[in-house]
Amino acid sequence: MKFYNLIAGEKISNSDWFERRNPANTDEVVAEFPKADIKTTNQAIEAASDAFSNWAATPAPTRGDILFRAAELIEQRADALAETMTREEGKTLAESRGEVIRSRDIIRYFAAEGRRMSGETLPSDRKDSMLFTRREPLGVVGIITPWNFPMAIPAWKLAPALVAGCTVVFKPASLVPLMGLRLVEIFHEAGLPKGVLNFVVGSGATVGDAIVTNPKVKGISFTGSHAVGHEIHQKAAPEMTRTQLEMGGKNPLIVLNDGDINLAVNMAISAGFGLTGQACTAASRVIVQRGVLDEFTEKFAAKARAIAVGNGVKGATMGPAVDASQFKTDLDYIEIGKQEGAQLILGGTQVKSDTPGHFIAPTIFSQVRADMRIAQEEIFGPVVSIIPVDTLEEAVNIANGIEYGLSASVITNNLRSAFYFIENIQAGVVKINQGTTGLQVQIPFGGFKKSSTNTFREQGKLAIDFYSRLKSVYLDYPS
Ligand code: NAD
Repeated sequence: MKFYNLIAGEKISNSDWFERRNPANTDEVVAEFPKADIKTTNQAIEAASDAFSNWAATPAPTRGDILFRAAELIEQRADALAETMTREEGKTLAESRGEVIRSRDIIRYFAAEGRRMSGETLPSDRKDSMLFTRREPLGVVGIITPWNFPMAIPAWKLAPALVAGCTVVFKPASLVPLMGLRLVEIFHEAGLPKGVLNFVVGSGATVGDAIVTNPKVKGISFTGSHAVGHEIHQKAAPEMTRTQLEMGGKNPLIVLNDGDINLAVNMAISAGFGLTGQACTAASRVIVQRGVLDEFTEKFAAKARAIAVGNGVKGATMGPAVDASQFKTDLDYIEIGKQEGAQLILGGTQVKSDTPGHFIAPTIFSQVRADMRIAQEEIFGPVVSIIPVDTLEEAVNIANGIEYGLSASVITNNLRSAFYFIENIQAGVVKINQGTTGLQVQIPFGGFKKSSTNTFREQGKLAIDFYSRLKSVYLDYPS
């Protein structure tokens, strides 16, 4: 089926089409979209710019009411949205449904922020005088998202942007345009005025670049790889455009001798192989203390062996790689791991299925050294490295010995170990007795080191900071 860009509420098309195929059945075309060019992107930016003053002047609780209605529509359509997500991105139906419901919750949370966004009042040095801050929307913002959470990441950027009074040009990843469009249409159906949210699909180099470098765009919120985030940072610098860049991860799950082994195994399975390992917070390194190494490895491999790889619509418990390129990256890294001398104890191969798709087996390497490439670089697939250690201190050193710092977990029943970990780990999200994946909307999210610009956090009430600016008001009321 053929779709469109959406600018000022109008469906915009052209003659340059691309198609997205189901990664679990490459015979099936899920959607065809017209590729936006620079002219179309500029048109979207103009539309957002024209819509700004009215939207900024709309009371924040009214903006929030539109978001509440959008959340209701998502709930009503949860099953259909989940099925579309599975066909377009490949994750299992249970994973898609979880993401749809999470998107609903994110939008509800920010809808309520429409009545909570606050500044502060402060005591003045002067008599008959007051000081207060006033929060105003930033302006037109560009929102650029990756493919791995086709609905939740757009939701956790769009919802705070809209409730704060910004207008938006939104570019989803070209692998998942249909879920992006579905979300944009829901906001419009919920009552969003035309031009407030504009949707353009196309390549990062063309559409993304045109958004990042346009001086009318006052902020860029991006989630994706470090390489692209770095490029955006450079390109936004001449205009000093505000950026919020959330990037890759190589997240450690530490298992200590005193921890609950069955819990550790469950967390390694869900955080390592959930979403086919295609989560920025995926636990791709499991760092295990030697006292429990054998037991952990045996139970982890046994449980991973039971994962059913296949088409997410047909009851598989792990879906395919998102496309041929990611599939090749996974296999290339598996080869690298073997050459580096890590021990391949599970998987490492393509999985055959009744439909043509990019299926890869859950893969585990043991006896991995911390300096191997498979333990240092983000693979973004179902490939987990087990790294043996003697002590907690060694585990934390290894966990910190990489360029990224997004999410990190420890499995322990020792309070002192837990606090040592909390204090010393270099990561923006720190979890005790939980896996590295899974977020709640009310607490801020973002990484350290190369995982983030470390400027503005996403989610939680702090998310509003990126999309707003403060005026400091000095008010005298002399008698
Ligand atoms: P990507 O960096 O290739 O693309 C992300 C988005 O940027 C896409 O929409 C793409 O079209 C666009 N883009 C590409 N080149 C551009 C350019 N020159 N200018 C502007 N935009 C451009 O990432 P991906 O492959 O879609 O997603 C996977 C990556 O995202 C992984 O590294 C993963 O860790 C990361 N990720 C991070 C988080 C987080 O919150 N930290 C969450 C999810 C995914």
